[in-house]
Amino acid sequence: MLKVLKIAGAAGCLAASLAFAFQQEPVSENNPGLVDVVVIDAGHGGHDSGTRGKTARESRTTLKIALALGKKIKAEMPEVKVLYTRTSDVFVELDERSAYANRNRADLFISIHCNSSPSSSRALGTETYVMGLHKSEGNLEVAKRENSVILKEKDYKEKYKGYDPTSPLSHIMLANYQSAFLTSSLRFAGQVERQFKSVSQRKSRGVKQAGFLVLWRTTMPSVLVETGFLSNPTEEAYLNSSAGQDEVAEAVYNAFKQYRKDMERY
Ligand SMILES: [Zn+2]
Repeated sequence: MLKVLKIAGAAGCLAASLAFAFQQEPVSENNPGLVDVVVIDAGHGGHDSGTRGKTARESRTTLKIALALGKKIKAEMPEVKVLYTRTSDVFVELDERSAYANRNRADLFISIHCNSSPSSSRALGTETYVMGLHKSEGNLEVAKRENSVILKEKDYKEKYKGYDPTSPLSHIMLANYQSAFLTSSLRFAGQVERQFKSVSQRKSRGVKQAGFLVLWRTTMPSVLVETGFLSNPTEEAYLNSSAGQDEVAEAVYNAFKQYRKDMERY
């Protein structure tokens, strides 16, 4: 909380010119403590293919992982309602993804993505983000890249009033959101990174924070999973294979299972 206040103070003088301080929608009240509705968000799609490897396209890889994850949850936990922001290669605007989760009173929002490092084809590993202030330039760059998708949306200037994907200040402003769900989001994100290591011995780059527009207005614990680097040929081949996609889905599924158990204890 202290951090949030500090950020608000530091950015306060410029806040008036950035008019994207929307009201949070009411928090889901169905079965507090229980995780019964999960929204799985395959990043990108349609005319937004996301980042690219030599042959892989982020939009296709994320969809396959998202569907595999949903299938595992449905098979093992028929009582859980699994919803997807997309199930085919279509473009979905970022604000619609979070609005969909809010409308359906989801208990958890999982956004699936692939990473890219323009400076090194050797960068590798997984990282799971929750909303918050970036602590490194690298984290900020990931958020900027993922948020730049809005440039492909119609009317983005009106919809995301004042938000400029190239401005560090815009990202600092975004960090204020989702703070009510920070503890739960961090708990799930920690599980995801632990499972990547134990299921498939992936290199975990850790749990990180940055301002992601897709997480901005969700009213439930939310994470964005960077499942690996398409700019790294070995990880590209892994993420492009059905075995690799299945392992990623398995790791996130295990994390979901553990998180659900943890939450039901409260
Ligand atoms: Zn992405």
